[in-house]
Amino acid sequence: GASALALRPASVSLVTSRNAAPFHAAQSYRRAALVLWHWAALRRAAMRLLWRCALVHSVALHSGGVNALHPSGVKIFYDPRHATHSNAKGHPETPRRVDDCRRALEKTDATWQYLKQARTDAEESVRRVHSNQHISRVKKASKFYRFGRTRLAVDTYAKRGSHQTMLRAQSLWLDAVDHASIQNELAVALSRPPGHHASRHVADGFCLYNFAAGAAAYALDVLGKDWVALLDFDVHHGNGVAAYADEEARVMYASAHQAPLWPNTGDDPSDQGLLGNRLNACVKRGADAVEFCGAWDRCLKFVADRVSGSNGLLVVSAGFDALLEDPLAQCRLRPQDYVRIGRATKDAAETLGVPVVLGLEGGYSTKVGDAFAHSIRPWLGDDADLVEVEAAPKLARRVEVCESNQLPEPGALRCVSTKHGPLTIATTSDGAAYALQKRLPPYGLATRFYGDFDGQVRTIKDRGSGTKFYVDSGDVRGPWCPAILPKRCAAGVPLHIRHRRDSSLAVR
Ligand SMILES: [Zn+2]
Repeated sequence: GASALALRPASVSLVTSRNAAPFHAAQSYRRAALVLWHWAALRRAAMRLLWRCALVHSVALHSGGVNALHPSGVKIFYDPRHATHSNAKGHPETPRRVDDCRRALEKTDATWQYLKQARTDAEESVRRVHSNQHISRVKKASKFYRFGRTRLAVDTYAKRGSHQTMLRAQSLWLDAVDHASIQNELAVALSRPPGHHASRHVADGFCLYNFAAGAAAYALDVLGKDWVALLDFDVHHGNGVAAYADEEARVMYASAHQAPLWPNTGDDPSDQGLLGNRLNACVKRGADAVEFCGAWDRCLKFVADRVSGSNGLLVVSAGFDALLEDPLAQCRLRPQDYVRIGRATKDAAETLGVPVVLGLEGGYSTKVGDAFAHSIRPWLGDDADLVEVEAAPKLARRVEVCESNQLPEPGALRCVSTKHGPLTIATTSDGAAYALQKRLPPYGLATRFYGDFDGQVRTIKDRGSGTKFYVDSGDVRGPWCPAILPKRCAAGVPLHIRHRRDSSLAVR
């Protein structure tokens, strides 16, 4: 800056003396311009000096006194091009999920790193946990000349560019593993779609590649970790990660999830897998934060009891679909309950002396971002107000839903918008009315458009899976989702059923 300041006026004055101006007006104009230029240069130099002082000051603050408030910190790895992979219209796994998370996380003190391009070792990393056939199937569906979507499983799609998007998502997880191994910080991979249902040969449950398993294999084979503990608080059992744990003895997989629930694996708490390295910490439908956090503590204890040495890594599959508002599951957590989960995880990692990587899996309500921001608060030194989680109040509220003249004809369905959100009302052939939740298990397809109602038998059939549910009890009539995978689908998950009272419909 200083040398430019010295040189520029000299060259300018040289120009002015060579071209001796014939007019007085032109000369005074040049002089005014020169003064203005000097003034601007001085101001720029002063601003630079001020900025430098501020920077040095803030670095000193962060390395000194403020450290007590920021015990470690959080770094978030993010790729804005996640939206190039999108599912069919109405699909619950949308780019909006990660956009919500980004907005909520930007309000925290976490630092960010945007991905420039996929890592060159991302595909190699995917190849460690997936077969060549599976990868080439995804690649083929992702070719640039492809139009529309290729269905890889009943609810899982790939489209043009999906393979590259998945490699970028895997890169975020790998960057997070690298960062956590070097820095004493929580490393977060803010990626989508989820990955924990994808297994070696199969895409499933919105997941194309299993990012958590890929990150674990990378940590073991490339970084030379002795062990990796895969922890999972997504409300679904990560059947893909479980399958990976069954073939890799250096990892453990402990999952807190609702059972029974799709994918209907991991519902036996005594089953520890082929190698004895898995834990199914199941909670019942309707579980609140007390039950869910209890299951999470069992997961952390399972890992702590089995590992030795601090050359390890915790990879956390963070799904936020145990929230009360989630359309695909029936647990009852509030966003602030995830502080407790984060605190328990951080404490466990510190006791073991190992780094933590956390990556986004599921979560399909609008509260996901809020819950995510709460989950990282312990690493930002921002959980001093943490109290033990309380049991959720019993759901005994009765609310009016609609007037009797709004009820559909006998044998028909109608969507009614209420002050509590949209509900589907079914009237049976004998005139009894029932209010149903607006989405059908297990895929969350809209009740109104994907449900075939039989007013005589009082059942509603989900067109996606073929399963029939009684509208008065929610019980399954006949086999559970026979159209998809008859062997895996064993237990029924009832609908939320509302009751009729007097002439208007009331829900409980
Ligand atoms: Zn999930």
